[in-house]
Order: sequence, then C-alpha cells, then structure tokens
Amino acid sequence: MNFKKLISTSILMVATICYIQAQTRVIAHRGFWKTEGSAQNSIAALQKADSIGCYGSEFDVWMTKDNQLVVNHDANFKSKSMEKSNGKELMELQLDNGEKLPSLKQYLKAGKKVNTRLILELKSLNSKQRETKAVEQVVAMIKKMKLEDRVEYIAFSLHATKEFIRLAPAGTPVFYLNGDLSPKELKEIGCAGADYHLGVFKKHPEWIEELHKLGMKVNVWTVNKAEDMQWLIDRKVDFITTNEPLVLQQLLK
Ligand code: MG
Repeated sequence: MNFKKLISTSILMVATICYIQAQTRVIAHRGFWKTEGSAQNSIAALQKADSIGCYGSEFDVWMTKDNQLVVNHDANFKSKSMEKSNGKELMELQLDNGEKLPSLKQYLKAGKKVNTRLILELKSLNSKQRETKAVEQVVAMIKKMKLEDRVEYIAFSLHATKEFIRLAPAGTPVFYLNGDLSPKELKEIGCAGADYHLGVFKKHPEWIEELHKLGMKVNVWTVNKAEDMQWLIDRKVDFITTNEPLVLQQLLK
C-alpha cells in the first residue's frame, strides 16, 4: 500500500469510527419484552435485548418492606405492594412469561453473562431515607458483582439521582428522568445527561444541542413510533429508549 492510500484509508477509518460513535443507540425499555417467551422486566427480556444487540437494557428496581431489592415496574403487582410486602412474597409472583419476579441479585447475575449495558432505574420510594438506603445497597451490590463499568443509573427522584452521583464511583453515568431541570441545572448537579420524555424535547428541542454543548448525553423515552424515532435520530440524540427496539434498529441501518 502506498503512502497516499494509507492516509486515505486511515481517514476513512477514523470517519467511520466517528460516525458509529455519533449514531443514536438503542435501549430496550424494560428489556426486549414484545417477543415470544419474554415479559417486562424479566431476565428473558434482558437476554433477548442482548441477543438482538441493544446498547442497553433498562429495568426498574424497588426496595421491599424488608429492604430487599427486586426488579419490577409497577408499585403494585398482582395486588402486592412493592414497598409494603416482604421480598420473599414478591419473588413468588409469576411474570407473564412464567418466570418468577426476580431479585436484583438474580437479575444482575444474568447481566454478568451478557454484553448489553445495564440501565438501572430506581423507582421513587416513599421516603428520602429509604431512597438513600436503596442507593447504598444498589451501589454496593454492583461493586461486589464487579459490574461497575456496565451500569448506568436513572431516577425520577432528584434525591435518588443526587445520591447515585454522590455514592457511585466517579464517572458512572447518572441520568435524571423527570424532565423539569434545564441542561445547565443537570450539569450543576453532576448528571451525565438528560433522560427525558419525548414530550419534553418536543417542547424544548434546543435542549438537545445545549446538552451536547455542555458535553452531556441525551436519552429519550419511551419512543415507539418510527416518525418520532426519526425526528430524534435527525437531531442526533445519543440514546432512544423504546419498546420497539427492532423498529429502531431498522431505521438506524
Ligand atoms: Mg423504567
């Protein structure tokens, strides 16, 4: 290969890498659950999100009455309250695919065996004290299981968001979900970026560029329509969280 050719090939390679990095990435919302044998927040949904090559798989975490961490979306599931029931009784409940409701530990054990990033949402709990306790336990468990470089934290609670920033190792991505803070305010508290509802960015499309100028990332939930996905891809958001990862992957091809 002559020198000129080597230079042009190198430029092409760098451009390709930059393009790949700039491309919007896919996060499966509650895992990839709209497929056979899966269910929201099931271990199968995590494995299936990984098997189709999602950048990340999102899941929801509650702390039970006896301070156990479990994975589920709803505050009440099959008439049991997440915060008012003990872990043991919740983990006997069956998900739609026949799996038992997983503990966070069980879920992370499965997470160890896959490559997709673990997008861990802590649900808002009924006191700040409980949220601090839950964040402490989550961060300790992630450390013990050596998953620190695989996890990103998200929360609607500003208190929990700040606690993740305080307690997780420096550089761990923490995103705030509630949509009420400006890019500057997110930067001031130390967030990696905004993880906001599509409606927030429709109202404040300028926030996408503002976040990027501040060196922050943009994640958008829960985007299931192709036209909305395309609107966000055109604006170069970093991540789209979706119940339709295959539709998004097709658009990105
Ligand atoms: Mg969630």
